[in-house]
Amino acid sequence: MVNVFSEGFSQNAEQIKKSKRTRLEEENFLIDEIPENCALVSITMTIPGPIKNNRFLSHTFDVVVKDFLSNYNVVKEILWDITTGPEAFIIIEKDPGVLKEEAIKYESDKPLGAIFDINVFTVEGDSVDPITRKELGVPEKKCMICDNTKKECVTNQTHSDEEFRQFIDKLINDNIDF
Ligand SMILES: [Zn+2]
Repeated sequence: MVNVFSEGFSQNAEQIKKSKRTRLEEENFLIDEIPENCALVSITMTIPGPIKNNRFLSHTFDVVVKDFLSNYNVVKEILWDITTGPEAFIIIEKDPGVLKEEAIKYESDKPLGAIFDINVFTVEGDSVDPITRKELGVPEKKCMICDNTKKECVTNQTHSDEEFRQFIDKLINDNIDF
């Protein structure tokens, strides 16, 4: 057993916003490198509260990304182990629509999938666009804790950061060996 949130540097809203901007820049930067029959994938973790990364979260991220990618032919892989949370940018040889469906299935079927966001992008001309669940006719993502949608629980602040942290701590300890 490890105490997942016992380490790490607190991040403020400005730092998190900045890392989101940097992520969008990287996604756009990679446009030219994506071959025609490939999809761009960006993977992040959903970690409520000020601590977004430490050695336990980073290790969990590596294990899950490796497991997800074991199903695919990976053309390029970039991993950022940064204080605002680990991020991966991956170019995979696969139809983006099919890949998004498989990513959705991975998020809901694998226990640790609940705390991961696997975004799949299509490239059209000079822009990358995320494929949405709505486009695929798939129900919205569920909350990691209850049966509501993630959006409902975020909007209504149904769960406290502490409740999320306890849930994530148990989930990681149940599924990862340290
Ligand atoms: Zn909930």
